[in-house]
Amino acid sequence: MTKNIDWLAQTQKRQEELLETAQAFLRIKSVLDPETAREGAPFGEGIREALDFALQVCRQAGMTIKDVDGYAAHAEFGAGDELIGILCHVDVVPEGDGWSTPPYAAQIVDGKLVARGAIDDKGPAMAAIFAAKLVLELGLPLSKRVRLIFGTDEESSWKCVQRYFQTEEMPTMGFTPDADFPLIYAEKGLTDLKWRQTIEAFRALNLPAASQAEAALVSFTAGRRMNMVPDKAEAVLKPLQMTGTQIADRYRQYLSETGRTGHAEEGNGQVVLMMEGVSVHGMDPGKGVNAGTELIHFLRTLSLDERASLYTSFVDRYLHHEHHGAALGIAHLDAEMGALTVNPGVFEYQADGDALIQVNIRYPHSVSFEEWSGVLTGLLQEGAFALEVVEHLPPHRVDPNHPLVTTLQRVYTEQTGEEAGIIAIGGATYGRSLDVGVAFGPLFPGRPDSAHQRDEYILVEDLIKATAIYAQAIYELAK
Ligand SMILES: [Zn+2]
Repeated sequence: MTKNIDWLAQTQKRQEELLETAQAFLRIKSVLDPETAREGAPFGEGIREALDFALQVCRQAGMTIKDVDGYAAHAEFGAGDELIGILCHVDVVPEGDGWSTPPYAAQIVDGKLVARGAIDDKGPAMAAIFAAKLVLELGLPLSKRVRLIFGTDEESSWKCVQRYFQTEEMPTMGFTPDADFPLIYAEKGLTDLKWRQTIEAFRALNLPAASQAEAALVSFTAGRRMNMVPDKAEAVLKPLQMTGTQIADRYRQYLSETGRTGHAEEGNGQVVLMMEGVSVHGMDPGKGVNAGTELIHFLRTLSLDERASLYTSFVDRYLHHEHHGAALGIAHLDAEMGALTVNPGVFEYQADGDALIQVNIRYPHSVSFEEWSGVLTGLLQEGAFALEVVEHLPPHRVDPNHPLVTTLQRVYTEQTGEEAGIIAIGGATYGRSLDVGVAFGPLFPGRPDSAHQRDEYILVEDLIKATAIYAQAIYELAK
């Protein structure tokens, strides 16, 4: 009998209720709000309200509810030792300006449900709830438990899942409807690193003083975030053997020869050089233009004071146009997950303070953190830099032959008629919070991604399709 379930038709029967419930859910402004945080609502009242709403829908459907201090909560049904997890989040990023319809009106316009959270992740969360409801309503026999887990600060610090899994059972396997179809099974390891050279560490190198330096570097800054390619860089120089005008002229000539964008200003006995780059996400730094390393590449044409000379030569040699760590000696190419990537996202140099390079490195699962960071630590000593690990998320990968992957692939193909290619990415999805977890939808291939943008939407048709896919997926995984 179960072979003949028409999941889409069953979902379409419930379309009106699904849409109305999703709209009501999206009308709750569940943005992080520390002002209204309290015990039981660590991220504020809006998120608490959205969490309660989701739980109420699950309770009415007959699921058992557990709230974990307002950090996260779950709704469970089925029976058995094994646990299938579906991880969603009820928080959204701030709405921003410029919407065509109010961001929390959740209106349906031209077949699109438009709201902050429509695709990320309250629309998909409601799709998962209705998928679970459908499995319950059809009275299908299950040999495993199914748990919908609702996180509350996916958009900021992931403290929700951290807190949740401190006390709650890790699902045997599961998926998150918080990314793309067909299926993301592998995510690179992510690291944020600070390379810091203190004045003391520099002095301990005992380098000979630069004689006849043309200029001294007073300060250098570029970028604000490690995971972005810097689009602006600024160097402040004090002219010594060259005049300010000579330095500025040389820079302008360099800009015109290289086609780069920037400008030079003189005043107060200093020259300020500015470079513009092209900012892109740090997971693919070769697609951008790093204003920081580009400006340092110019600074290498000047003879600078000894500390600046060390800093700029280090950056120029190891980081300029070095997106895969070859010069650093840490390049690694994985046939499945792609190459290790290096993005120097923030530069800060103060002649009378620390010299810093902040780098985002992403690496595939076939090389270990210890392996490449060991090489790096050795090399950094050359520049008197110490390595600080600000953040490290190890690579996440589920075996492509794992029943989780093959089952979801089969379900996707059965319902869409499309081949379900599996995807490895350089970013991070919520799926990595599960030991055996993948991201599965809701964005279908070829659809523009409106997450975090104004006029965020999900096509009503896609919401229904995703719900039907999730229903069959829950059933097939838990039967
Ligand atoms: Zn999300």
